[in-house]
Amino acid sequence: MRSFDTDGGTDHANDFGGSPSRYLTEMARSLRHYLSYQALMGLEWLPRQPTSSEERLPETLDLIRADLEDCKRCRLHSNRTHIVFGDGSPSARLVLVGEGPGHEEDLQGRPFVGAAGKLLDRIIAAVGLRRDEVYICNVLKCRPPGNRNPQPDEIDRCGPFLRSQLRAIRPQAILALGSFAAQFLLSSQQPISRLRNRVHQFDGIAVVPTYHPAYLLRNPLQKRRVWEDLQLLLSLVRGKEVATR
Ligand code: SF4
Repeated sequence: MRSFDTDGGTDHANDFGGSPSRYLTEMARSLRHYLSYQALMGLEWLPRQPTSSEERLPETLDLIRADLEDCKRCRLHSNRTHIVFGDGSPSARLVLVGEGPGHEEDLQGRPFVGAAGKLLDRIIAAVGLRRDEVYICNVLKCRPPGNRNPQPDEIDRCGPFLRSQLRAIRPQAILALGSFAAQFLLSSQQPISRLRNRVHQFDGIAVVPTYHPAYLLRNPLQKRRVWEDLQLLLSLVRGKEVATR
């Protein structure tokens, strides 16, 4: 007599004397051992599979951009020249997230142009990729006046679009550039100096925080620390074992 009807379960249950409860107990024990082993190897989290509702409602970058329209959801719309939505490959393995557009970005409608953009290109090359192989975007899509820090209500209004972009692309890794990007993605208040040099996660995607290129231009001695962070990133985009501290 068959013990239960689920596909494949019957044969396995028979391996345990036809007892579903013994079979499930053994499965739970094996899973516990597997997770303990992975924790010993330094794994702190497991990638989350998309839920069935996410699979039914695919979002694309074009749909997200269309939803943004001529956005006036926060005060930053009043001084902008262009919305800076994002730039790069919609199937990128790596997404770089900054804080918000600066003067040049606002004029051109593209993220990370100018001196900070050139430095970012070198960071991208250091992980063996080209700019057109990654995707670059910001937490805010409009420039804060005078390049001031983003305000919490502006991040609340604009942040959901970044979340949607990341869920549409689902890269292997995210490089969070500077405190605001890292704090937003990790729901943390810790400074970038405490968040960097570790692999975190956003929605099942690995996140490596590091210093913002504009900060590096003012503090070139910190480039050594960014190089350390890029070594972590390399292990992720090349598919090697995740390195955690
Ligand atoms: S910063 Fe974001 S939320 Fe605010 S107006 Fe621009 S696109 Fe809209």
